[in-house]
Amino acid sequence: MRDNQLKAVHPSDLKSLLKSLGIYNSVCDNKETCFFCHNVIAEDTISAVFPFENSVCFCCGNPSCCNTLIDLESEEDDCG
Ligand SMILES: [Zn+2]
Repeated sequence: MRDNQLKAVHPSDLKSLLKSLGIYNSVCDNKETCFFCHNVIAEDTISAVFPFENSVCFCCGNPSCCNTLIDLESEEDDCG
């Protein structure tokens, strides 16, 4: 499997990942939003965490957001 940008995060690892990125408190304070629909995300609604332009972005559990994220990955594959 190729090592691509998408980090599929297991829920049990999410908290430690967020803490290591220094954004766990922001998530708890409802300051972080879904990259695609801009709804506020919470620890239990994050479906993916991924880097974008030197910042950390989130995808919520909305199926349309997840599909958009998959499309992004597919487009990058096409370019490569
Ligand atoms: Zn979303």
